[in-house]
Amino acid sequence: MVASLYAPSEAKKALWVFLEIEGGDFAGVSIELLSKGRDLAGKAGWTVCGLLLGNDVSDLANQAYSYGADEVWLIDHPLLGEFDVCGYSHVTMQAIKVGKPSVFLLGATPNGRDLAGRLAVRLRTGLNADCTDLILDEDRGVLISEVTGFGGGVIALLESAEHCPQMSTVRPGVFVANEPEDNRQGELVNMKVKLKKADIRSTVVERHVGEGVDLTQAPVLICGGRGIDGDFEILRELAALVDGEVGATRPPVDEGHIERERQVGQTGVVCRPKVALNFGISGAFHFIVGIQDAETIIAINTDPEAPIFEHADYCIVENAHKILPELIKVLRRERESIHA
Ligand SMILES: Cc1cc2nc3c(=O)[nH]c(=O)nc-3n(C[C@H](O)[C@H](O)[C@H](O)COP(=O)(O)OP(=O)(O)OC[C@H]3O[C@@H](n4cnc5c(N)ncnc54)[C@H](O)[C@@H]3O)c2cc1C
Repeated sequence: MVASLYAPSEAKKALWVFLEIEGGDFAGVSIELLSKGRDLAGKAGWTVCGLLLGNDVSDLANQAYSYGADEVWLIDHPLLGEFDVCGYSHVTMQAIKVGKPSVFLLGATPNGRDLAGRLAVRLRTGLNADCTDLILDEDRGVLISEVTGFGGGVIALLESAEHCPQMSTVRPGVFVANEPEDNRQGELVNMKVKLKKADIRSTVVERHVGEGVDLTQAPVLICGGRGIDGDFEILRELAALVDGEVGATRPPVDEGHIERERQVGQTGVVCRPKVALNFGISGAFHFIVGIQDAETIIAINTDPEAPIFEHADYCIVENAHKILPELIKVLRRERESIHA
C-alpha cells in the first residue's frame, strides 16, 4: 500500500473545507459543507478551516466564520482570479503540506471534482466521491463517508483511516446550510505560496453564464417522468400557478423533452422543496434521492404498486393526463375567486 504524504499520526485535528467562489460569492455547497463540518468538528473538538483561494477575496473570510469556520487559510494571488485546476492544485498542495488536516471536504461541482481528483493522486490518498452523508468517528479520528452503489441497492460506509487527508466530495443540496452567526469571529491565516505564470495552464477567453434555473431554491417542485409522455407544457402551466419549478426524471431528459439542468436525482439535482408533486414517475432510487427531503411528497401514478408510493405522503392512483387538466382547472378557479 502506498503511503500518503503524511501519516494519520502527523495529522492535525482539523477539518478543511474548500471554499469555492461563484460569481464573487461562496458556492452554496461550500456553505453547506462548512455547516456540516461545524456540526462534525464541534462534537469532536476539532478545528474547522476554510481554504480560500482567489484574487482579492479576503473580504469573504468573515462570511466563512459566520457559517462555522474557526480559521480561514487565505491564498490571495493575482494568478488565482480564475479557477485553473493546475494552479489551484499547486497552491492547495502547499497549504495542505503545512496545515496537515485530517479531513478535507470539497463540493462535488465541476471545479470541486476536478480539484479533488488531482489532489487525491498527488497526496497519495483516497477520495470518496458524491457522498450522501458524513460521520466523524471521534475516538479514531476517522471520517466515515456514506455512498450509494448498485443503483441505490447498497449503501456503503467508506473510510480511509490510513491515509491523509481523508477526502470526500458532496453534491450541492445534500446538507443544509446553518443560519449564519454574524458576530462569529475566526482567525485569518495568510498563506504565502510559490506560484508563477507557467503553473497556470488555462486561459479564460470568454465567460458564458447560463440563465439556468436553480431547482434547489424552488419551494414547489412539479416533476414529470416517463409516464407523462413528454407533455411538460402542462407541467409548466401547473408550476406557474403554484410558483413552482418543473423537474424531471432522467428518461424524458435523455429523450430531449426537457433540459438536462432540470433532471432531479442522483445524477441530477438534489432538492428540498416544501412540496414535490410527482407525475408518472416509478420511484427508482436514483430519482428518489433528489426529492426524499421534501417536506411533503405527492405521487400520481397509474400503478398502485409503483415504488414511489412507499416514499409519498399522499398517493394518488390515477392517470396523470386525466388529473393534470382537472388540477389546473381547480387552481385557476381558486385564483380567480381570490382575485375577484
Ligand atoms: C447511474 C445511474 C444514475 C441515474 N440517475 C438518475 C437521476 O439522477 N434521476 C433519475 O430520475 N433517474 C436516474 N437514473 C435512472 C433511474 O434508474 C430510472 O430509470 C428513472 O428514474 C426512471 O424514470 P421514470 O420513473 O420516469 O420512468 P419509469 O421507471 O419508466 O416509470 C414510469 C412510471 O410512470 C407510470 N405511468 C405510466 N403512464 C402513466 C400515466 N398516464 N399516469 C400516471 N403514471 C403513469 C408507470 O406506472 C411507471 O411507474 C439513473 C440510472 C443510473 C443507472
